[in-house]
Amino acid sequence: MYPSRFRYEAPRSLDEAIALLHERGDEAKVLAGGQSLVPLMKLRFAAPELVVDINNVGGLGYHSEDPDGTIRIGALCRHADLERSALLKARQPTMAAAAPLIADPIVRRRGTLVGSLCHADPQGDWASVVMALGGTVAARGPDGIRTIPIADFVTGPFQNTLAPDEVATEVVIPAPRGTPAGGYLKLERRVGDFATIGVAVAVELTAGTVNRAGIALTGVGGSTISATAAAAALTGHQLTAEVIASAADLAAEAAQPRTDHRGSAEYKRHMVRTFVTRILAGAETNGGAANGGAPNGSAGKAA
Ligand SMILES: Cc1cc2nc3c(=O)[nH]c(=O)nc-3n(C[C@H](O)[C@H](O)[C@H](O)COP(=O)(O)OP(=O)(O)OC[C@H]3O[C@@H](n4cnc5c(N)ncnc54)[C@H](O)[C@@H]3O)c2cc1C
Repeated sequence: MYPSRFRYEAPRSLDEAIALLHERGDEAKVLAGGQSLVPLMKLRFAAPELVVDINNVGGLGYHSEDPDGTIRIGALCRHADLERSALLKARQPTMAAAAPLIADPIVRRRGTLVGSLCHADPQGDWASVVMALGGTVAARGPDGIRTIPIADFVTGPFQNTLAPDEVATEVVIPAPRGTPAGGYLKLERRVGDFATIGVAVAVELTAGTVNRAGIALTGVGGSTISATAAAAALTGHQLTAEVIASAADLAAEAAQPRTDHRGSAEYKRHMVRTFVTRILAGAETNGGAANGGAPNGSAGKAA
């Protein structure tokens, strides 16, 4: 199907993009990778009168690390940039594990992490990863820049807190307190599919003790779920079998899965428990990324 008629603008600066958005309010949409917006427009689930393509705005394609270990991902950094990133492989195991699991190579070539957060699909992978890491989104509008914790940014399925005239400019992952470990595991029916379930775990360790932990779940609720009790069960502890089992049980309790053609609620809850256990067992032994042992990091196929 063809989209409804729309006006297309491709400004060369953020100020210009924001001015265009401000002019049209709710009738305007930002275009980043276009991998979610364009399909929605073709299906006529979205019919913006104005599309503001930010791809000509310079200086947004970066991902970088500050001297203190803070990681920044610009609004035009593609999934594929993160998949290939030596920085993430060396410094951020949860993100490094997730990047190759987003969609397929064609989508990864264009789609962006920031766009994925803005789209706020409950089955999107990046929101769980950024939530587990305690990340924030920087947004710029006519009144300046504000910073929004990811838990406040994603407010529901396909909903975020951006004003219609704001552009999300970057995602910030705070510097780890200790050695970062963890991973992302995704159960999918076939490679490239959206998650049946996804589990992001991030821990920061000093001498084997967890200083900070985050666990978040994809696809097992109306929105991304932060398993805060599960994360709290890890903090201040060594990753013993008992501590891991307790966190895995609490994460499974936090899930709100529904039975559907991809599996029963009971099965999905069981897989949340299994993935949390698997990632944390890997973190305990090697402090590195969990990828379930599969060559592409995918953990397996749903029944
Ligand atoms: C076949 C297919 C399979 C996919 N599989 C997966 C998958 O397995 N896992 C997964 O997580 N995702 C998947 N996706 C979605 C993909 O990750 C998208 O890239 C992502 O959801 C949106 O990023 P984008 O840059 O393409 O955003 P766009 O499509 O350009 O925009 C999406 C929405 O966010 C808004 N937006 C984008 N950027 C900004 C910004 N900087 N500021 C303000 N608003 C903004 C847009 O206005 C729009 O409403 C899949 C997509 C396709 C087509």
